[in-house]
Amino acid sequence: MARYDDTYPVDLVIVGSGAGGGTLAQRLARRGWKVVVLEAGPFWDPDEDWVSDEAGSHSLYWTEERVIGGSDPVELGKNNCGHGVGGSMVHYAGYCPRFHPSDFEVRTRDGVGEDWPISYEDLKPHYERLELELPVAGDYWPWGDPHRYPHTAHPIAGGAEVARGGARKLGIEMRVGPVGITNGAFGNRPHCIYRGFCLQGCKVNAKASPLVTHIPDAIKHGAEIRAGCAALEIEVDDSRGRVAGVRYVRDGSERFQRADAVAVAGYSIETPRLLLNRTAADRARHARPRPRALGPGAAQYVRDYNHENRVTVTSDATDRNGVPVARMDYSQCDNDRKNIAYAKQTLHDIFEAGEPGADDHGARLAARRTTDAQARRRARRAPAAPPATAAAASAEPSRCRLIQACSLRPCDLSSKMPRAPSS
Ligand SMILES: Cc1cc2nc3c(=O)[nH]c(=O)nc-3n(C[C@H](O)[C@H](O)[C@H](O)COP(=O)(O)OP(=O)(O)OC[C@H]3O[C@@H](n4cnc5c(N)ncnc54)[C@H](O)[C@@H]3O)c2cc1C
Ligand code: SF4
Repeated sequence: MARYDDTYPVDLVIVGSGAGGGTLAQRLARRGWKVVVLEAGPFWDPDEDWVSDEAGSHSLYWTEERVIGGSDPVELGKNNCGHGVGGSMVHYAGYCPRFHPSDFEVRTRDGVGEDWPISYEDLKPHYERLELELPVAGDYWPWGDPHRYPHTAHPIAGGAEVARGGARKLGIEMRVGPVGITNGAFGNRPHCIYRGFCLQGCKVNAKASPLVTHIPDAIKHGAEIRAGCAALEIEVDDSRGRVAGVRYVRDGSERFQRADAVAVAGYSIETPRLLLNRTAADRARHARPRPRALGPGAAQYVRDYNHENRVTVTSDATDRNGVPVARMDYSQCDNDRKNIAYAKQTLHDIFEAGEPGADDHGARLAARRTTDAQARRRARRAPAAPPATAAAASAEPSRCRLIQACSLRPCDLSSKMPRAPSS
């Protein structure tokens, strides 16, 4: 692997080697950029470092102190982001859906929120490319922009078979959702062995994460992945009005990597935390976030929408490196609650209808769902006043009714585990 001196001004320092940072490093290293990736966590060796056991997998998660707030505070621990080369994709669930074209046009189509400044067509080639690179396995997807996936769907577990039967009885079409898990050998990565420890880091390397997909290629093309290095602050050169580099800590010593540009890809909590921890002069200049790329309507909407759900830094607590601790507030709105209640009820109905011997009950549930759907359609036809505020707009019920079937079938192959290819 290339090694750059701290005093050498590299083209780009990337903070974080997860989904965003790992992919960016690979893309730019291939174009000849001199890239250093600072990663706070370790450079994992799946063979040596990971265990197929929930209790033994805590080192995969970000465990530095965080403050949570709001009316529905988010649970941390295994639910928290990743910490180490590969980022959160090391323990993420692997689900890889595309947005639908309609998701980009909610103002035009539904009269709520704001349209995105880009369309589905802008992203489509990137979806297609990444689905090949991970690769993604799943059923033909008939919704949104109908498409296939490079690998066919994985077999589903017994519980998901029950759900599929129940959904069929209720007239709900169910497909096996797309996952970034090989269904066939792929380069030096083997077929998934259906052991079910995807959320503890896939020792087999069948599940995609930058650690096994994009980082090896980034290194091959000259990127340096500097693990065990926590970025503390982005320094700005006031005379040039540009970044000068990143202050970071390695083995307890503070260091400074010079760079012409800096990209922060540290997950949705550490990224704002680092950006909020800039030098005092810089903070004064950029006191308010300016999401200009979104366009004026969407930028305003994001500001209104996020008035309660946001990441800030605390003024009274710092971590062991002296960086203010992140605070994350989360409160559900009416629309969130309605969506969660609808999804829970639908899943409940599906599983009840799918139980063996539930034929009569299934028919009754199907009849009730038809009556409910008719009532909803009648309510939708009734003229409604347009939402006056962003808060009212966000209370609109969503139209989404897709149910994903679990694609993993647990089995006990512990004695037959192959050794993962060395990374
Ligand atoms: C439990 C869980 C399940 C998920 N399941 C899914 C799913 O099924 N499908 C899906 O699409 N998404 C899922 N996600 C979300 C997805 O993993 C993230 O959206 C994605 O990984 C974010 O990419 P990122 O590059 O922003 O950050 P990450 O991939 O989290 O990478 C950030 C990296 O930055 C490092 N870092 C942070 N701060 C610093 C610092 N100051 N200095 C140096 N390094 C730093 C971290 O150690 C980490 O390795 C899941 C997330 C979690 C936590
Ligand atoms: S079930 Fe498949 S993807 Fe999940 S950990 Fe096992 S081999 Fe990896």
